[in-house]
Amino acid sequence: MSKTETTVLVAEDEESFIDALTLGLVKEGMTVLVARDGREAIEVWKESSPDVILLDLMLPKLSGIDVCKEIRAQSQVPIIMVTARGSEVDTVVGLEVGADDYVVKPFSMRELTARIRAVLRRAPANSEMQPEPASTTSSEMLRIGSVTLDTARHELRVNDKPVPLPLKEFELLELLMSNPNRVMTRDMIVDRVWGPFHTSDTKTLDVHIKRLRSKIEPDPSNPAYITTVRGLGYRFESRTERP
Ligand code: CA
Repeated sequence: MSKTETTVLVAEDEESFIDALTLGLVKEGMTVLVARDGREAIEVWKESSPDVILLDLMLPKLSGIDVCKEIRAQSQVPIIMVTARGSEVDTVVGLEVGADDYVVKPFSMRELTARIRAVLRRAPANSEMQPEPASTTSSEMLRIGSVTLDTARHELRVNDKPVPLPLKEFELLELLMSNPNRVMTRDMIVDRVWGPFHTSDTKTLDVHIKRLRSKIEPDPSNPAYITTVRGLGYRFESRTERP
């Protein structure tokens, strides 16, 4: 993020949070704009077109959901929802009205900046943000339990044994494993793995999940890694005790 400084709009009404966020983001070399209620958030967004919006769900005057809807109707600016612990449903609503990601309070600055960078990387090249290197060959090893995914080599290992994996299953597993313990909605998964123009055929997704489970789960009929969050989507568990 050397070339252009990233401008973050922080829409938040808790002063202590505003202070901590501003301090942390400025330290990361970002410029911070603050809006203390929903209407102000929309005004500041219109005036200053920030690179990314950090949007608290519970805002005075206009809720984060409504702010998100309104901005999304006009712009693809990356939006990260900030939600309170235990409001998983709100989170999902946020994602459904077009937020790109979410963080749950309390979160660390490290997690937040990682999420900001991730949404900026995915953002369409409408702004002249940092040019993405031709191939981001970040040899990243995702390792959870007995499942290891080498993203650079496109290689899956289960209990240290290589398991062949078709491309879409690989992408799906990579998405889930990069977001451990987070609910990924069906729409979000289909959008990221099959692309935004894919007619959201959730059958396809379910079939891929089933195939993945048969490859990585000790007991595919009783999944310990990829769990179903009823009515919402799927979650890759990293914390569950496994036999
Ligand atoms: Ca709030």
